[in-house]
Amino acid sequence: MKPTELSGLPEGVGEHLEGEGVEELYPPQEAAVDCGVADGENVVAAVPTASGKTLIAELAMLSAVERGGTALYIVPLRALASEKKTEFERWEEYGVDVGVSTGNYESDGEWLASRDIIVATSEKVDSLVRNGAPWIDDLSCVVADEVHLVDDRERGPTLEVTLAKLRRINHDLQTVALSATVGNAPEIADWLDAELVDSDWRPIDLRTGVHFGNAISFADGSQREVPVDSGGKQTPALVDDTLDEGGSSLVFVNSRRNAESAASRLGGVTSDHLTDQERGELRELATAIRDVSDTATSDDLADCVAKGAAFHHAGLSSEHRDLVEEAFRDRLIKVIAATPTLAAGVNTPSRRVIVRDWRRYDPEFGGMKPLDTLEIHQMMGRAGRPGLDPYGEAVLLAPNVDTKEELFERYIDGEPEPVRSKLAAEPALRTHLLATVASGFANTREEILEFLDNTLYAVQSAGSAQLESVTDTVLDYLDANEFVDREDGQITATEIGHTVSRLYLDPMSAAEIIDGLRDAEGGDRSAGQYGSRGGLSDPDADEADESAGFVSGNDLLDDDALADAEDEGEPEDAESEAEADDVSALGLYHLVSRTPDMYQLYLKSGDREEYEEELFEREEELLGRTPSEYDDVAFEEWLAALKTARMLEDWASEVDEGRIAERYGVGPGDIRGKVDTAEWLLNAAERLAGELDLSNVVAVREAKKRVEDGVREELLDLTGVRGVGRKRARRLFEAGIESRADLREADKSVVLGALRGQKTAENVLENVGREDPSMDGVTADADAERVGREEDGGQASLGDF
Ligand code: ADP
Repeated sequence: MKPTELSGLPEGVGEHLEGEGVEELYPPQEAAVDCGVADGENVVAAVPTASGKTLIAELAMLSAVERGGTALYIVPLRALASEKKTEFERWEEYGVDVGVSTGNYESDGEWLASRDIIVATSEKVDSLVRNGAPWIDDLSCVVADEVHLVDDRERGPTLEVTLAKLRRINHDLQTVALSATVGNAPEIADWLDAELVDSDWRPIDLRTGVHFGNAISFADGSQREVPVDSGGKQTPALVDDTLDEGGSSLVFVNSRRNAESAASRLGGVTSDHLTDQERGELRELATAIRDVSDTATSDDLADCVAKGAAFHHAGLSSEHRDLVEEAFRDRLIKVIAATPTLAAGVNTPSRRVIVRDWRRYDPEFGGMKPLDTLEIHQMMGRAGRPGLDPYGEAVLLAPNVDTKEELFERYIDGEPEPVRSKLAAEPALRTHLLATVASGFANTREEILEFLDNTLYAVQSAGSAQLESVTDTVLDYLDANEFVDREDGQITATEIGHTVSRLYLDPMSAAEIIDGLRDAEGGDRSAGQYGSRGGLSDPDADEADESAGFVSGNDLLDDDALADAEDEGEPEDAESEAEADDVSALGLYHLVSRTPDMYQLYLKSGDREEYEEELFEREEELLGRTPSEYDDVAFEEWLAALKTARMLEDWASEVDEGRIAERYGVGPGDIRGKVDTAEWLLNAAERLAGELDLSNVVAVREAKKRVEDGVREELLDLTGVRGVGRKRARRLFEAGIESRADLREADKSVVLGALRGQKTAENVLENVGREDPSMDGVTADADAERVGREEDGGQASLGDF
């Protein structure tokens, strides 16, 4: 079937597709059309990677728009949202408006109402539903990309509940779900009342095999000789072999560190295969990469790229990733060593995929655990670029015959696992039940259970009482923390419960934050639990503390602070300023870092001692009680939160990014990620403190602003000016311009000296509202300029405060 033969699409779309090289629909696409995907029918498409799933989604969405409706495309990762949006934007010339919603959870979604296709993560959609975005009611089509991720412990439940909610709000909603080939596709189709397209068709042959000794043995029984020198390694030999044929390789490894070291080693292989022209282009690319950020990761990546190799993992900034992916697609970069997290979703096919690590460390498992067949298949599916490669090859590596047999059995001949709902896990239900009650979806226990009946979990656990019993536990928790009220069988969200749900917080994070802020108000922080830890050594006492979050939340109920807060009423402004000084930024950063909504930094070996020392020195600043050292898990977490908090404090004290990366062993993407999460949680804390009339609102706001701008307190006024970041603000400050008012009055030559660059200085002055921002004829003040230069040369000293 040709795209132009399809009816029901906006005019010109069929021709456009043909112009792109889609001459015939692929068989699974045609099967989806036969199931009615372009006529508003529900369809689940379980097909391999790179088999044209996106077009199935596009047919559904574009035909929905043509019928006057709107469509929502749910992506699994934020990093993929803008990529998909760009992809769909080619339909704008046919009158289809595309929007993406990736911002912070609570940001305004109003403008999205005017879009025809909206791209968002499931978290974002969930948040929009909670906040009652009106356009949600009018949706006519929803597409869930990578729906097999409902199996994911962390994020699966949100996708599952979001789909259930959307389908309940709008009974006529067309649901299209795209999935990898999984063990139980019929069950997913059953859950979504959908027709099923279940296929293992691929546009390009995929040969899978295992390399052992001096050859790859393929599933079809053939062999390919790829010798490895004695003492040599398999991966470089395989990469070299692909390069001999002019192909590129994607190497999957199990950690960021491994990705970086593999890329560095593989640079030695690729550099021998480069032409002079490629060398020149790679040098330029390396410079562009170095310019992205001033960190060791950036430098390391640039060094590899100059040799034609790269690494790819979630610690890279999005600019880094874009540069690497594009150069790989252009065949300039010859090999990427990647962790699977992002690479699985990003469209970077290559001739050969080498799955070097098929096991990953799993703390729950207590050792190295084999990856799921589904996940390995997703990686292997990246092999072969249609139209460019004659075929794709996916190779696993075995050091001995036994492993070779195991790999064949598990991954080559083995079927992918069935997808299992993770909704019954407590943290997931805690969050989603509160939201369900708060948004009025269900207001009795029976209604809640009825709503949960629309989930995959219900399909999979038919007849079991587990969901019911966890539901009861969670309702008790929400009640105990005053997030819901239960009266005569009616369950309603309290005011604070509504806020928590709208803020998209895990209720346990909210309980922790409220608890910590009240504790600070109570003023008993200086007790110094850690200093007197000998007194807390009763191991039995620790056991009672097992469900730390629960206890912490429930403690609220009989906390004197609660009564105090209520009695006191509105705190005086002056008083709250005074109180504000009592709570340090570190204390607040620690508070938000220990909530379940923050991924804390790991404590590496040797860290424990350092942070115990830090805890000893700064315990008074922390809000809440330090867990006993004998409660190993809780104590470790407390220290990990302290490490995270100190990283945030460094950032908010203008410590250079490169230095932070080095000190905490993280990449620039991690720093940004933690800063964003902290900003969001502190914003939530500010709202909660305001609503509960707590006196530390001002301190929270200031800590938030500092982390947002990455500056010390005294620069906050200056960073409020558009175009003034942490470095420029510091230079202005050092040159004697300490506030916006100063900036409006200051001698222009000083401004020019501190800011360097006439255009920058003019923009900044214009943004601060100076009447005549022109710098014509102004010469930079030498002293101010020198401040700038010293700061550049001595940036590290900023971190030594
Ligand atoms: P998936 O989402 O299944 O991993 P994609 O939708 O990204 O795969 O498709 C992979 C590539 O195949 C894309 O570059 C797409 O343009 C191309 N493609 C999709 N359908 C067809 C078709 N019918 N004919 C030719 N190319 C196609």
